[in-house]
Amino acid sequence: MAVRRILANRQRRRSRGSWPIQESAARRPEGWPGWPDGKKFAFVLTHDVEGVRGLDRCRKLAEMDKALGFRSCFNFVPEGEYRLPDTLHTYLQQEGFEVGVHDLHHDGSLYRSFRSFKEQAPKINQHLQSWGAVGFRAGFMFHNLEWIKNLNILYDASTFDTDPFEPQPDGVETIFPFWVQGNGSKGYVELPYTLPQDSTLFLVFKERTIDVWTKKLDWVAAHGGMALVNVHPDYINFGGKGASSEFSAELYESFLKHVSSRYRDVCWFALPREVAQYTAQIKPVLRP
Ligand SMILES: [Zn+2]
Repeated sequence: MAVRRILANRQRRRSRGSWPIQESAARRPEGWPGWPDGKKFAFVLTHDVEGVRGLDRCRKLAEMDKALGFRSCFNFVPEGEYRLPDTLHTYLQQEGFEVGVHDLHHDGSLYRSFRSFKEQAPKINQHLQSWGAVGFRAGFMFHNLEWIKNLNILYDASTFDTDPFEPQPDGVETIFPFWVQGNGSKGYVELPYTLPQDSTLFLVFKERTIDVWTKKLDWVAAHGGMALVNVHPDYINFGGKGASSEFSAELYESFLKHVSSRYRDVCWFALPREVAQYTAQIKPVLRP
């Protein structure tokens, strides 16, 4: 982590003009009509559950979201270091949360080659079906918009508008959802995350405030885009001492409070699948 921090700080200085805000990412996909009910922008919460530590904190995190009037999507690794308990799956569904698939093993093997992807795709499709999930996000935010066509999904959420700190750092340079056409009538919606990840801000850069989030949120709102957040239960400390690989739940909680008090009336608070359903009807495309 220490080495990663030094490299990331160097990268941060180099990326000053393109992170966290890349002005060119305000571009709208072709045919974008705006948000439902005249809302100004959209706010979407996602949680990738990396390991056992995260799994154990899902309920606490869901309860925090719920208490502040939010619903979110929990993305679980189907064949990683834990198994998703039926009780948790049922609880999330009953409370109005969404469940998505996060990679298959989360060991970096999915995108190692096209062959590897093709081998794992049928298993991912099985898990999507058995969980009643329609969304996917790859481990380490690896992405290939062609290969993803092998998944039976409504949406993928493995890309970002700008994030030079990811191992595959090419952003899609838009803060809007867009349609990726497959073969025939098939295709899927791509939902880039557009706010920096919690791990980047609070673990790598050791930020002590939520200023980067609120600034980016304001910018996304001003341009009518989609503020899509990814926060990992694995890294949230709900009390007690907390490891160095954790940040205080109070930071996250204060961000949610900020969003709801500032934007309550003008924002569409939606699950990723709702944004994807809306986008799939319109099929706005992103021109290079
Ligand atoms: Zn992950």
